[in-house]
Amino acid sequence: MESLSNPYICSAWSKQNQRGCRNHCVSGRKVCYIHGGKTPIHNVGPKTKEGKFRQKMASWKHGLRSKERIQERREIQHLIKKAKELIHMKDLSILSQTSHLT
Ligand SMILES: [Zn+2]
Repeated sequence: MESLSNPYICSAWSKQNQRGCRNHCVSGRKVCYIHGGKTPIHNVGPKTKEGKFRQKMASWKHGLRSKERIQERREIQHLIKKAKELIHMKDLSILSQTSHLT
């Protein structure tokens, strides 16, 4: 409650201990430097295509969960399912052909 009454104390609230942050605010901001007071106000990330790509690649690990890989796996699973269905249909047709012979 101290942070709500004092404009020079950080307004961030801890989830772990259910208490407000007691640090001093960065000048002109409502939060301390730990809780985002140093972040520029109008910083919304890269705007150009190259900048967005650079940001994406900065956190790229191995690409196994990328959109392209997920789509590729779905297509392979679909092909496997179709192949199994064809094999099953072929087995049924062979069984029907051989059943009248015996
Ligand atoms: Zn704080």
